Amino acid sequence: MELFAVPDLPEIREGDDLAALIDDRVDLRPDDVVCVASTVVSKAEGRVYDYEAFPPGPRAREIADRLETISGDRKDPRFAQAVLEESTEVLIEAPFLLTATRFGHVGVNAGIDRSNVPGGDLLLLPERPSESAARIRSGIAADRVIVTDTCGRPFRHGQRGVAIGWSGLQASRDWRGETDRDGRELGVTVENVIDELAAAANLVAGEGDGGTPVVVVRDFEFGDHVGSDAHFREIDGDLVRQAIREWTHET
Ligand code: GDP
Ligand code: MN
Ligand code: MN
Repeated sequence: MELFAVPDLPEIREGDDLAALIDDRVDLRPDDVVCVASTVVSKAEGRVYDYEAFPPGPRAREIADRLETISGDRKDPRFAQAVLEESTEVLIEAPFLLTATRFGHVGVNAGIDRSNVPGGDLLLLPERPSESAARIRSGIAADRVIVTDTCGRPFRHGQRGVAIGWSGLQASRDWRGETDRDGRELGVTVENVIDELAAAANLVAGEGDGGTPVVVVRDFEFGDHVGSDAHFREIDGDLVRQAIREWTHET
């Protein structure tokens, strides 16, 4: 397997045809997986906003005040308002905002970025990243597309790339029923392939001013496995999310 960045992509603006920009710059093969940083998908989809677009309500003011008390830094209640409007549930309010977005992704600040946002204050995640992935896919020679974001996770330091949308491949491959080298049957392993590919792509894309938001994964083979599109956990089976709910309600 090989990964490389698509060269010479310009600054992306609202209305840009990302698929055409990608397809013009690299000779894609049908089985390539094209990983696109959500940042440029959002820019193309016009998800750049000024703070003025989010006049804060009482809840946003309360959250900003509380964050300020804890951290000592002034927090803009309009930022909290933007996060609330992007979210279906607030899991943690302080010392940081952890929420579930409308499309099911749980992340800090609903994935809203304040870096790499020329022409505005805030960059919101794409509204429906898997639909974005499908649109890009329909305009390029490759059949598989992943929309990525950089995201932290509990229990470990640092951020890494994750998949927030995908099209043309399944999210996971299921090893259950297959055997290990001892002949023991695997009982639980469902490997989340799109997150793994997103993490690898993110290594190449970088986080700063590299200008390489699109990474091609070549010769990745899904292999002969049962696949599944399950990615974001449903609330019902998500014990950690349930525990956070209980803890939040007790404090
Ligand atoms: P995120 O992980 O999706 O939030 O995106 P990042 O802000 O981490 O950016 C990922 C990569 O895309 C970095 O190499 C940035 O320099 C690059 N990047 C961000 N916006 C643009 C853009 O409009 N054009 C180009 N060419 N690169 C960009
Ligand atoms: Mn981001
Ligand atoms: Mn990033």
